[in-house]
Amino acid sequence: MSPTIRFNDGKEIPQLGFGVWQVPNEGANAAVTAAIEAGYRSIDTAAIYGNEEGVGDALAASSVPVKDIFVTTKLWNGDQGYDTALRAFEASLKKLRLETIDLYLIHWPVPSRDLYVESWKALIKLREEGLVASIGVSNFQIAHLERLKAETGVVPAINQVELHPRFQQKALRAYHAKEGIATEAWSPLGQGTLLSDPTLTAIAEKYGKSTAQVILRWHLDIGNVVIPKSVTPARIVENFQVFDFKLAPEDIAAIEKLDDPKGKIGPDPDTFA
Ligand code: NAD
Repeated sequence: MSPTIRFNDGKEIPQLGFGVWQVPNEGANAAVTAAIEAGYRSIDTAAIYGNEEGVGDALAASSVPVKDIFVTTKLWNGDQGYDTALRAFEASLKKLRLETIDLYLIHWPVPSRDLYVESWKALIKLREEGLVASIGVSNFQIAHLERLKAETGVVPAINQVELHPRFQQKALRAYHAKEGIATEAWSPLGQGTLLSDPTLTAIAEKYGKSTAQVILRWHLDIGNVVIPKSVTPARIVENFQVFDFKLAPEDIAAIEKLDDPKGKIGPDPDTFA
């Protein structure tokens, strides 16, 4: 069982969930079913992933009641705006075959379109109507978060951002802690690129764990919500077997030193459209 992180709205999210970016719609049912069987109770999808229907199939067929599975989906960039966001949400809900969503995120700020405040107002309305339990953002920088707060007074429950040992987002994490925003790590394993890092493999050896497990444990130990992805059943199970150990402070300190100004893998949120 994953521990949970409490949001600023009082709701809770499992700290370890399952991400499905790049899982094709036809494969999403099997992957999500394997994840639920392995113990995951949180699934992270997005309209742009094109697999909300496959995720919905798995949720509908699952022996675990849907109310016990935390579902996140995201508003795509081209659907930003007040009315368009409401319509896009409706479409996601239908594809997922759900009546409500646990967490709805604005996927990217897209500052060049300047629609994220309007989009945020739509998410606030969805929450007021009870169609979404919690609302948050993804890939927002401090300036974008400040603007949401200044213009709507509503602080996101969570910000899902690229975060892994080579890109640790220390300034943003400190801001989140000050503002009561949960931090969620995407590409928590650096899309697999971190698995041969010598510092991490040495720590893994010391604990008798895999490198992926050590990285995920690091995320949990520093308080992140984390959503690793795999379509390989054995790895899906392995990535959930991280609740029987904790990293010693010296190992957390060694991982902290891997932070690298050039460690970012994904696009720049200030320019990505
Ligand atoms: P990840 O860091 O979770 O890495 C996934 C890859 O690592 C797998 O494809 C596999 O190759 C490898 N892997 C996973 N477990 C392994 C194991 N135990 N042993 C060996 N190799 C293993 O990368 P990700 O998929 O980019 O990120 C995770 C999730 O984050 C996504 O599925 C998605 O839900 C979310 N995400 C969100 C955004 C965003 O903009 N909000 C962007 C990227 C990803």
